[in-house]
Amino acid sequence: MKIVNPATEEVIAEVEMADATEVDRAVERAKDAFATWRSVSPGDRARLLRRFAEKVEDHAEELARLEIANAGHTAGNARWEAGNVRDVLHFYAGAPERDHGRQIPVAGGVDVTFQEPLGVVGVIVPWNFPMVIMTWGVAPALAAGNTVIVKPAEWTPLTARRLAELALEAGLPEGVLQVIPGEGEVAGARLVDHPDVRKIVFTGSTEVGKLIAAQAASQVKRVTLELGGKSANIVFADSDLDRAASSAPMAVFDNSGQDCCARSRILVERSVYDDFLVRLSHAVQAIKVGDPLDPASEMGPLISAEHRDRVASFVGAEGVHAAGSCPSGPGYWFAPAVLAAPAGFDPLAGGSGAFHRAFTEEIFGPVVSVVPFDDEAHAVQIANNTTYGLSGSIWTRDVGRALRVARAVEAGNLSVNSHSSVRYWTPFGGFKQSGLGRELGPDALAAFTETKNVFISTE
Ligand code: NAD
Repeated sequence: MKIVNPATEEVIAEVEMADATEVDRAVERAKDAFATWRSVSPGDRARLLRRFAEKVEDHAEELARLEIANAGHTAGNARWEAGNVRDVLHFYAGAPERDHGRQIPVAGGVDVTFQEPLGVVGVIVPWNFPMVIMTWGVAPALAAGNTVIVKPAEWTPLTARRLAELALEAGLPEGVLQVIPGEGEVAGARLVDHPDVRKIVFTGSTEVGKLIAAQAASQVKRVTLELGGKSANIVFADSDLDRAASSAPMAVFDNSGQDCCARSRILVERSVYDDFLVRLSHAVQAIKVGDPLDPASEMGPLISAEHRDRVASFVGAEGVHAAGSCPSGPGYWFAPAVLAAPAGFDPLAGGSGAFHRAFTEEIFGPVVSVVPFDDEAHAVQIANNTTYGLSGSIWTRDVGRALRVARAVEAGNLSVNSHSSVRYWTPFGGFKQSGLGRELGPDALAAFTETKNVFISTE
C-alpha cells in the first residue's frame, strides 16, 4: 500500500498489508504473550505503561510530524494528539493497582469478585485520528491485563507502527502490543472472525460497525463500537451570540470536518437566525486553510481524493450560503462551506433534496448546515430527529434550559456554552446508532474485563 501525504500527494512510505494467515500468526503470538502479561504484577504493569508514556513524550514531535505527513493534521492538532496519547497511557498506568473486585456479604462464607482480563483484544482504527483512537482502546486493554492487536486504517498506519516500536523499547514484552496494517475486509474481518480474539474495539463508520456487530454476535464476542455522528449545535437567542458564532466553525471544521463529534447541524432560534448567519459567514471566511506545517493554518486537507469527491457531492453550485477559501494545486483541499436551509425547509419532514441530504447524512468534511427553530421543544425534536447520537452543544445563558436540553438531547457527549467533548478522564461514546459502550473515563477497564464471582465456604 502506497502511503500518501494528503497535503502534497507525495508517496511517503510503502506498507505491506497483512493477509488472514498473518493475522492468525499475530493472534498466536498474542495468546502466548497473554499467559505471562496477565500475571505481571499490577505494580510492574503500571511501571511498564508509565515507561511507554515516557517514550511517547520523548518522541512526541516525531509522532506529531508523522501524523502531519500521513493524515494532513495541522501542527497544533498533531502535537495535541501526541500529548493525548502520552496522557491516556499515564492515566491508565494508574489503573492496574486500582482494578478492584468487591467483597459481598453472604451467609456461610466469603464472597469476592475478581476483574479478569478477556485475553486477546482486537482494536480496529479509522483514519481520522489514528494514534489517539488507537490509544483509547490499547491503554485500558493493556492495563487490565489483555494483549492487543491493532489494525490501523489502510491510509494511516505510520503512527500506529511507531507506537508499537516505542512500546517494545519501553520494555513491554513481545506480543503484548502488535500492529498489523491490512485491509479492513481482510485483516480486520479476520480479527473479528478469529475465535481466539475475545473482544473487538471498533471505531469507524456505522455501516461497517453494524457488519462487525452482526459477525461478532455469532461468537457472542464482546464489542465496543464508536461510530458516526451528525451532532447538533443548538443556539438560543439568549446566548452570547458572538461566542456562539465565532466558535461554531471550528466545532465542525476542526480536522477538516473529519471528526465524529463534528457539530455539523447548527440549529438557531428563529429570532436571531439572520444575525447568526452573518456572524458565522464572517468567521468561516476568516478560516485559514493551508499547509499543515504552517503554525497559522487552522485546517489542512482532506484525507484522499476519493474522500474529497464524496464531500464535494454534498455541495452543489447553488445553495452555498458562504464559503472559505483553500489552496489550489497538489493536495486534497476543500474550502469550508455553510449551507443554509432553503425557504420552507421543514427539518422534521422527510425529503430527498440536496439540502435535506446534507442536513441528515454524515459528510465527514468541512460542510455545515444551518436551520432555524421556533422554541426549546422544537430544537430538541430537530436535534433528536436522527439515527445518530454522539455529541452536541447548547448555547444559552439560562442554566435551567441548559440542563433541560442537555438531559433531553439523545447523545452521549454534550457541552454547554463550549464545544468540548473528549477528555480522557471522562466517559466517551454514543447513543443510538453512534455506538455501543463507552471508552475513556474512570470505568474503561470494565469494558476489558469479565467480573468473576467466587464463594468460599467457611464451614
Ligand atoms: P470505516 O468504517 O470505513 O473503517 C474503519 C476501520 O475499519 C478501518 O481500519 C477499516 O480498514 C476497517 N474495516 C473496514 N471494513 C471492515 C470489515 N468488514 N471488517 C473489519 N474491519 C473493517 O471508517 P473510516 O472511513 O476509516 O472512518 C470514518 C468513520 O469513523 C466516520 O463514520 C466517523 O464518524 C467514524 N468515527 C467515529 C468515532 C467515534 O468515536 N464515535 C471516532 C472517529 C471516527
